[in-house]
Amino acid sequence: MMTFIHTLGFPRIGEHRELKFALEKHWRGELNEAELLAAGKALRLAHWQLQKDHGLDFVTVGDFAYYDHVANHIQLFGCEPARFGFSGSESPLARYFTMARGVASEAADASACDCGHAHGDDAAQSAKGKPALEMTKWFDTNYHYLVPEYDATTRFQLDAGSLLEQVREAQALGKPVKAVLVGPLTLLWLGKEKAEGFDRLSLADALVAEYRKLLEQLAAAGVPWVQIDEPILGLDLPGPWALALERAYHTLQGSPVQILLATYFSPLEDHLSLACKLPVAGLHIDGVRAGHELTAVQDWLPEGKVLSVGVIDGRNIWRTDLDKALELLRPVLARRGSERLWVAPSCSLLHVPFTLAHDASVPQPVRHWLAGAIEKLQELAVLKSALDQGDAAVAEALAANRATLAERAASPLVKNPQVATRIAALPADADQRHSPFKQRQARQRAAFQLPAYPTTTIGSFPQTREIRAARAAFKRGELSEADYTAAMQHEIELAVRKQEALGLDVLVHGEAERNDMVEYFGEQLDGFAFSANGWVQSYGSRCVKPPILYGDVARPRAMTVDWTQYAQSLTSRPMKGMLTGPITILQWSFVRDDQPRALTALQIALAIRDEVVDLEQAGIRIIQIDEPAIREGLPLRRAQWKSYLDWAARAFRISASGVQDDTQIHTHMCYSEFNDILPEIAGMDADVITIETSRSDMELLRGFGDFRYPNEIGPGVYDIHSPRVPSVAEMVRLLQKARDVVPAEHLWVNPDCGLKTRGWPETEAALANMVEAARQLRDDT
Ligand code: GLN
Ligand code: ZN
Repeated sequence: MMTFIHTLGFPRIGEHRELKFALEKHWRGELNEAELLAAGKALRLAHWQLQKDHGLDFVTVGDFAYYDHVANHIQLFGCEPARFGFSGSESPLARYFTMARGVASEAADASACDCGHAHGDDAAQSAKGKPALEMTKWFDTNYHYLVPEYDATTRFQLDAGSLLEQVREAQALGKPVKAVLVGPLTLLWLGKEKAEGFDRLSLADALVAEYRKLLEQLAAAGVPWVQIDEPILGLDLPGPWALALERAYHTLQGSPVQILLATYFSPLEDHLSLACKLPVAGLHIDGVRAGHELTAVQDWLPEGKVLSVGVIDGRNIWRTDLDKALELLRPVLARRGSERLWVAPSCSLLHVPFTLAHDASVPQPVRHWLAGAIEKLQELAVLKSALDQGDAAVAEALAANRATLAERAASPLVKNPQVATRIAALPADADQRHSPFKQRQARQRAAFQLPAYPTTTIGSFPQTREIRAARAAFKRGELSEADYTAAMQHEIELAVRKQEALGLDVLVHGEAERNDMVEYFGEQLDGFAFSANGWVQSYGSRCVKPPILYGDVARPRAMTVDWTQYAQSLTSRPMKGMLTGPITILQWSFVRDDQPRALTALQIALAIRDEVVDLEQAGIRIIQIDEPAIREGLPLRRAQWKSYLDWAARAFRISASGVQDDTQIHTHMCYSEFNDILPEIAGMDADVITIETSRSDMELLRGFGDFRYPNEIGPGVYDIHSPRVPSVAEMVRLLQKARDVVPAEHLWVNPDCGLKTRGWPETEAALANMVEAARQLRDDT
């Protein structure tokens, strides 16, 4: 017998984002359904072939999706929400895209923005259209899934046709097939209750019955193993959910297939014995995030069961330390025997780029240190050989791996002694402003003389076609630096004149020169690299190309001062400097695994601090440090929240605290529940926080009021995801609501988020109404 290697899932978007382009063509009507289906099939076949070529013992089927794998399960189990009103004449794929993207009414074309969560592409918000299923983050990743909707009328009815067809396609390759499913309890957990008082857990028995049928059909189709993912085993689960897991797997016991129960992203902790005792044939654990539990799992997991150990990081892009991995695996091998040890990446490879080995944009030697999905498959093959035949059989590969790791560890590119020295010498109070908020507030009021309910925006203005074209031409070397600067200055001037004409109180330069709020800074900081093709699916056809943070972060020169100073030179009103905060930069990058995230955050914070101080020196006295990603960095287990929030809030304060009392620091966060972390947000001590609140009808603000949030707040008064122009009355009403819960003298008036995805006409109309709303509020105080 030999050790088995497998993958929990493979990136579905394609090496060159073939799926993205096929989908978008289909949505534009340029590719018909049959052609899209053929494109999907070709991708699946190519990906299975790669698994086979790399010597994997299974090809994994069921991880492919035209939009999202959770949405696949909605159709697989026949629980499409009734609200879509499908007549039955639509094709399954048409229904699928309707659920994923909604049906637009005339006014709706909500657009994607970069605020860390997706809002649905083209999803309709208005009553006439059918809003898409909600989208939310898949655990703590940057992948978004479509949220299933459950209520008392929800019924399940298995329709395995498409999955079984994929099984047949894969079988033609001549390798055993392992099917993968999201588990029944995870599928329920990830959904949303659409009726007051309804408990989605009550659907478990009915759903599990359909899983049972599915397992029978898969067995009949010749599938020996089914991987069932229950990542909720790594969460703090309410008691009844843990019980329901037990019940579900007892019901599935005796199915004619072998079940590999897969967990990932988080240690099992209090669910460890439960996971080991469930009546399944095997258990997969995340050897990267839960490697410390391996011994306990070995003890608890009956000897006859398969243990799949995810020793290759499926969430990050560094080459695996193969010696270390083998060290972890060998005791399992000794105890369990090779027929019961499987080796895999920690989780699906969905979260890493297809390949990074040949990406010429990443300079050597850094490129050498990276592993995309393909490189991870290669690593699996080496591990298998080493385990089965001894290290000598792969001596060359292991030596090369050691050399690569040694090169990375010793590289002067990774270590910057000045950064270490600075951190060692950092005064204990580097994260504190000179004076408490009340004193700063008084000084700032004297300095800026702003009216009550000051108006401002969140930073970006419409990124017009001309702006994008100029940036692209400059990147390609077709536009000289001087011409590019002139073009951007022209945009800045345009934005400033429009804001003055609108009567806004605190202006912004508009961010025309920025491609992306993280990339823009990463490109100018030491320690970051950028791939040309390192795309990762975010949702549907949307992909992101996260920066690669490989070394100590330092700021060789000012990043935003020239543009901001230029903008300030055009106006006598205060110009707000605009920066991305350390936690958001951290959260939206692939970060190094050779030091704690907290230390990396601190390094970024110091670089941003330098920029803040330089802006102040240049006469910019209001500076916003965006942190839309602070909440999504929260660990999956609550017990770890405090330590994360401590270092995250400290990193923010370090970035913000180098300035005088009368320099005003703003921060901005996007739509999310903040109520459970309000003390920590208050602890960030920004003078002003702007948040996305309009879609919650100001309800989100109530928490700030109840908590007596001490500093100033700008609750968003209009949704920027749609071109709809809100009326003055509407915004006045929202502001009155806001005034009921937080002190009027703390209130700012602004949109929910940046306006880069909008056009100028609706932007100007909406802002004119917003400024008028603020005026009316002043009059009525
Ligand atoms: N300043 C950024 C902008 O206006 C903030 C974006 C965000 O919150 N994601 O675009
Ligand atoms: Zn935002």
